[in-house]
Amino acid sequence: MAGLYIHVPFCSGKCGYCAFYSVVGCENRIDMFLDALAKEAVVRTHELFSPLSTIYIGGGTPSLLSPTQFEQLDRIIKQNFKISPDKIVEYTIEVNPDNVDIPRIQAWRNAGVTRISMGVQSMIPQELQTIGRRHTALEASKAYQMLRASFSNISLDIIFGLPGQTMESWKETVHQIIDMYPEHISAYSLTFEERTRFSKMLKKGEITEVEESLSLDMFRWVCHRLAEAGYEHYEISNFARSGKRTLHNSSYWNGSEYLGLGPGASSYDGYRTRKSNPPSLKEYIFFYTDGGENSDYVESEYLSRKELTEEYILTRLRTSEGIDLEQYGDLFGKEEAARITKVCRRIGDKWINCRDGVLRLTEDGFFISDEIIVSLLPD
Ligand code: SF4
Repeated sequence: MAGLYIHVPFCSGKCGYCAFYSVVGCENRIDMFLDALAKEAVVRTHELFSPLSTIYIGGGTPSLLSPTQFEQLDRIIKQNFKISPDKIVEYTIEVNPDNVDIPRIQAWRNAGVTRISMGVQSMIPQELQTIGRRHTALEASKAYQMLRASFSNISLDIIFGLPGQTMESWKETVHQIIDMYPEHISAYSLTFEERTRFSKMLKKGEITEVEESLSLDMFRWVCHRLAEAGYEHYEISNFARSGKRTLHNSSYWNGSEYLGLGPGASSYDGYRTRKSNPPSLKEYIFFYTDGGENSDYVESEYLSRKELTEEYILTRLRTSEGIDLEQYGDLFGKEEAARITKVCRRIGDKWINCRDGVLRLTEDGFFISDEIIVSLLPD
């Protein structure tokens, strides 16, 4: 199973917390981006060994593309990539509530999009303003209703730990999201990434972080509430109704091959090679418009055995599947499997448990997954 990711690096404004690569106020360059993308697809199609099963159009804000521009993007995919005989099992586009309208919905449907991932982030007006979203809670609800009439698989993103957020306001957001009854919910913990507006504001003392204990309570509460509402917690930040786990992202977590096109996108060959496109729209357009070869442009990294082990631990422990110790031993040796088991015992059952030969983070362990994963990595 192979996946295709396309990074559409345009946004109408920059949200305070966001570290994804995107450019603001450059919509007049979308057509140039699409021309460069068409060239990149031709040059790199051979890098995928298997036919496509999943497509993910992310960003940035792909819903900024007009219906005609989206049709062009879809044509680029279909003209350059072999589709799996079982057809595309999942075709996702990320959207923002402020660009959802009937002509776009029609274009997405006509192209065969099966899944919508919409960034809502909060249903509290003050919080939406603080984080710099360009839509209201009401617009998010209206966009959802419009999408619901055409799509049976919708995912909504929300964030906890926002500056000024309280337990009550978080509960209000979660309740309103559950009432919409999407198939999938991603609940992210706010992190202050370097070079974001929030990290600068934090340094200047213009905003404050919520207490870690409050953030943990918010996480525990959302896990509990979503379980009650019938959502399975299958990855640190992801919850799905039965049969609605995201297939595309699951391929990142289980080490399958995927190809990423567009500035800032990364790829993995499912074996040992990682590639990434530099995060610069200007360079991207310049390079592909000049008809260059991708070998000079894409950064490529061959993973060492140690890096492969790290990658395995990092990705598998994110999910509720965890690490199967027998499989781990077959891949990296029995001694390594014994080492990791010993470290887990030392960390303790409150954070990570070993049942039936599988290591899994607990709910509290998910909350501090970065720290636990670091302590498990080989020296
Ligand atoms: S969160 Fe989404 S809309 Fe906001 S800046 Fe990042 S990519 Fe753009």
